[in-house]
Amino acid sequence: MTQEPGVVVIGGGQSGLAAGYHLRRLGVEFVILDAQTGAGGAWQHAWDSLHLFSPAAYSSLPGRLMPPQPGEVYPDAGHVVAYLADYEKRYEMPVRRGVRVEGVHRDGEFLRVATDSGTWRARTVLSATGTWGRPFIPGVPGRAEFTGTQLHTVNYRSPAEFTGRRVIVVGGGNSGAQIAADLAPACDLTWVTQREARFLPDDIDGRALFDHATARRQALDAGRTDTGGVAALGDIVAVPPVREARDAGLLKAQPMFSRLAAGGVEWADGTSSEVDAIVWCTGFRPALSHLAPLGLRSTRGHIPTEGTRAVDEPRLHLLGYGDWTGPASATLIGVGRPARDAAREIAALLQA
Ligand code: FAD
Repeated sequence: MTQEPGVVVIGGGQSGLAAGYHLRRLGVEFVILDAQTGAGGAWQHAWDSLHLFSPAAYSSLPGRLMPPQPGEVYPDAGHVVAYLADYEKRYEMPVRRGVRVEGVHRDGEFLRVATDSGTWRARTVLSATGTWGRPFIPGVPGRAEFTGTQLHTVNYRSPAEFTGRRVIVVGGGNSGAQIAADLAPACDLTWVTQREARFLPDDIDGRALFDHATARRQALDAGRTDTGGVAALGDIVAVPPVREARDAGLLKAQPMFSRLAAGGVEWADGTSSEVDAIVWCTGFRPALSHLAPLGLRSTRGHIPTEGTRAVDEPRLHLLGYGDWTGPASATLIGVGRPARDAAREIAALLQA
């Protein structure tokens, strides 16, 4: 049977919930479809030692402050999952779990949302499927020849399985630095980055990054000069475990190896090293394959948007994937504003 709410939100992580909060406030009828069986989106799959890079109060969705985690300035992923589960319950979010959207299709004045558990038809769709479902590993020569273990950030859990082994962590972002810091005391670690590792000053955490993103948005809104994205400040937030490992001399990044071979890596100077495992902390791409039937233009994996609205399909909004769907929209605190703007546009469209 086909169901017909006004809006289908695809994805029940923080972005989908923030959208739901604002849609509810505007009296819009909606449903949230989420592929997973539990609340919390990607945070359910974080590695054991992952902590936020902002204190709880700076990691809140609209309407409800994240409570502090006892004994922790920077909450862990389990605390985020509990917060999102509580948020969902408190606002009685209409989340349908275990429903994977397979394709969004044009269907006259509707968009038809085909899933593995039935079909929905909606006047508007908001896609909030995140990036965790699409890990990215660069095409490095010899990768298929390597006979050791290879895993991506999404599969990393803890140093336990790497004790005493020779491990290379690839990636100069926050995941790379945090996982390298996690592994350094336990194994024979080499950390490689494509460009020089750039630590943010120690007194800068997610709060300052958010303030910077806010100032940028205000400048752009006022037609002033672009102050640049937060990347201009550096790449790695020196959260306490990263700072400790760096100060202990355990986090010295080397330039990337030139190729992989069966038993290890070859370096640009022609030398080689034997390696047991490689952890690719090389990022993510937006998980957008369910939108393929719409045939929208896409540039480097991004669908062109005005705010959150797809330029080529005004009944589609995209939320939470990165700065291209709103400044800091891929963060807990940053997604609130683009979620509000998207909900307002959607409500106006439904009333037209
Ligand atoms: P997700 O949390 O990925 O949720 C998307 C949901 O959609 C999932 O439940 C997924 O199962 C579902 N879904 C996907 N495809 C489909 C489909 N086809 N059909 C149905 N459901 C689908 N942000 C901060 O604010 N502070 C931090 O300290 C911080 N640290 C981070 C550390 C790491 C390592 C990473 C990767 C990110 C971090 N972020 C941080 C960024 C950000 O908060 C997360 O990326 C966040 O999970 C994005 O939320 P989302 O709701 O957009 O996506």
